[in-house]
Amino acid sequence: MSNRSSKQWRRVSVTINAEALSHNLKRVREFAPGSQVMAVIKANGYGHGMHAVSEHLSGADMFAVAMPEEAFALRANGCSKPVLVIHGFIDSTELKLFSELDLATVVHQKQQLDILVNSTLTRPVDVWLKVDTGMHRLGIAVDEVADTYARLCASDNVGQVCLMTHFANADILDNTLNNKQMRSFVKVNNKLSACASMANSAAVIGLPQSHFDVVRPGIMLYGSSPFADRTAEDLELKPAMQLESQLIDIKQVNAGGSVGYGSTFTAEHDMRIGVVAAGYGDGYPRHAENGTPVWLNGRCCGLVGRVSMDSICIELAELDAEVGDRVVLWGKELSVDRVAACSGTISYELLCHAGTAYLANR
Ligand SMILES: *Cc1c(COP(=O)(O)O)cnc(C)c1O
Repeated sequence: MSNRSSKQWRRVSVTINAEALSHNLKRVREFAPGSQVMAVIKANGYGHGMHAVSEHLSGADMFAVAMPEEAFALRANGCSKPVLVIHGFIDSTELKLFSELDLATVVHQKQQLDILVNSTLTRPVDVWLKVDTGMHRLGIAVDEVADTYARLCASDNVGQVCLMTHFANADILDNTLNNKQMRSFVKVNNKLSACASMANSAAVIGLPQSHFDVVRPGIMLYGSSPFADRTAEDLELKPAMQLESQLIDIKQVNAGGSVGYGSTFTAEHDMRIGVVAAGYGDGYPRHAENGTPVWLNGRCCGLVGRVSMDSICIELAELDAEVGDRVVLWGKELSVDRVAACSGTISYELLCHAGTAYLANR
């Protein structure tokens, strides 16, 4: 094999649909026509590959990542758009790199403020001051925002100062905390009139009062629904990740026989079982329950037995299938949201894991 190494051909494949990403960005703009879009591409673009995603989403106004190293990598790869680091910097060495690479930082605690105002920087850094409006994860307490904001504005090390906060429960639109958080954020900003950002994907779709100047969608860009009770299709989002593998065996299991580790599934009648080459080592969720859909030859088959590290079993029944057939674990034919719901988790986790497992082995 010339330069087509064995690693480039793999039974399990993750492919990314660039057109789906730009379509989903267009959907964000339709939902939030008056706001700028900060595309969230943390965790390696939710497993889709941060660099590829940043290129396919070049129509976004800015990007957000969680960690400094992600932002440094974006710059090293030639990305020249505004980039915000959600966790911000942890010490003055990191902060200097933010300044040199023109990265915006979140300030979510006081230590960051002290480092920022006391450093010597080559150029000012743009700051997003994070307000804790009720999630109680990261953020400055509401009654300390005005002071912090004033200290930031007074520093030569600081460029533009914007305000942001994050919803705890936006995926449950009628949760009472949502309105409380919005009221609290509006109240804080009334006195400051700073550029403001609050909405994640769920709020982009369902809480238009929270759009403000900049929206911060993540999961919807990748074509998954942020809501348990609304499908991506309903929301006209297109899945960006396709996770596929192949059928490697077909066998008969007679009534009374059990399938897989722990014998958690027992055949009640004679069954035709297919073995698919993908498991939790590929990011397929180990907690997927019996009956979790797996797409093969135009139909969804149910998972039977426990998910192994590199294989799963599915019930073929009368389905026309042969060894070598292409199997879709999730993607266009089968929403990752359905697989997540059958696995006691959310699409975010599945996309991150499968993408990371695939990219690490490439
Ligand atoms: C991850 C994240 C988002 C995006 O959330 P989605 O639910 O994926 O849209 C937005 N803002 C912050 C601060 C985040 O950490």
